[in-house]
Amino acid sequence: MPQRTFSIIKPDAVRNGYTGAILAEIEKAGFQIISIRKQSISKAQAEGFYYVHKERPFFDSLTTFMSSGPLVLMVLEKDNAIADLRALMGATNPANAEEGTIRKKFAGSIQENAIHGSDGAETAAFEIGYWFAGYELI
Ligand code: ATP
Ligand code: MG
Repeated sequence: MPQRTFSIIKPDAVRNGYTGAILAEIEKAGFQIISIRKQSISKAQAEGFYYVHKERPFFDSLTTFMSSGPLVLMVLEKDNAIADLRALMGATNPANAEEGTIRKKFAGSIQENAIHGSDGAETAAFEIGYWFAGYELI
C-alpha cells in the first residue's frame, strides 16, 4: 500500500550543488514526488520542526544550521516509503553510512548530513502537516 513520508534536502547539500543528484537517487529508488518546495526557514521554524530534540546538546547548533540557507522540503510516496527512505539515506553519521546511501555519497558530518527522513508514521504525519497544506498534497 502506498505510504507517504517527509524529507528535506538539508542546507549543506543544497549549498554543495547536490539537489539534482539527490532527487535523482530518490526517483531512481521508486519514490513519487507528491509536493516539493525550495525555501529558507527561520530559526524558530527549525526549532518547531525539531522540538523532539529540544533537550539534546546539539539542538541550538542543529537549528542554526537548518536555518543557514535554502533547503528543499518534499513529500514522497511509495510502498513502505518511511523505512525505504531511511535505508536510502544511510546512518545519521556519514562515517557509518552504508555504501551506496545518500549520506555516504553526499554528507559531510553528523550534523551536516545532507538529508532528513521521517522516522515513523506519526512523525511523518506531523512533519508533512508542519510544512505543507492539504491542498498542496492532492
Ligand atoms: P533526521 O531526523 O534529520 O532524518 P536522523 O533521524 O538520522 O536524522 P536524529 O537522531 O533524528 O537523526 O537527529 C536529527 C538530526 O540532528 C540529524 O540528522 C543531524 O543533522 C543532527 N544530529 C544528530 N546527532 C547529532 C550530533 N551528535 N551532533 C550534531 N548534530 C547531530
Ligand atoms: Mg530523526
